[in-house]
Amino acid sequence: MSYDRGMSLDERAFFTDRPETRQGKYTCPKCRRTNDYPIRWVRRVKKDRLPGGADEGDRARFAKLKDYLLRLDEDVVCKACGKKFEIPSQHSLMFVDQLAGLPNDEELEAEIRAASGETEPEPEAKPALPARFTRKPTGWK
Ligand SMILES: [Zn+2]
Repeated sequence: MSYDRGMSLDERAFFTDRPETRQGKYTCPKCRRTNDYPIRWVRRVKKDRLPGGADEGDRARFAKLKDYLLRLDEDVVCKACGKKFEIPSQHSLMFVDQLAGLPNDEELEAEIRAASGETEPEPEAKPALPARFTRKPTGWK
């Protein structure tokens, strides 16, 4: 057996794959120089209609899917010093509708803070009690 829901379709059945090359700007961690590199991607374009054999679950999944790009290249060779380095992994998947107006890093971080911070209580709960409160009373009966 392969998947727990045996009948549901693999995500790849919903997309048409198109290879493409995009320029990416990356900074070499060794020499700190930034250059453009041709990076191979595959563009997953959502199909016009559901493939045959789709069930209700597939229909719901299909409705939520968006076109995206998946990076194939994992590393590049620095044009300046020849050192091979890894492309940061947070750049390995992009939704096509993000390509138009990519938010800058600051906006992104503010969003992350807003999403994770607000409702959470401070991790440090209470200060330790001073010793005089925890020390055992002596003498009294
Ligand atoms: Zn370099």
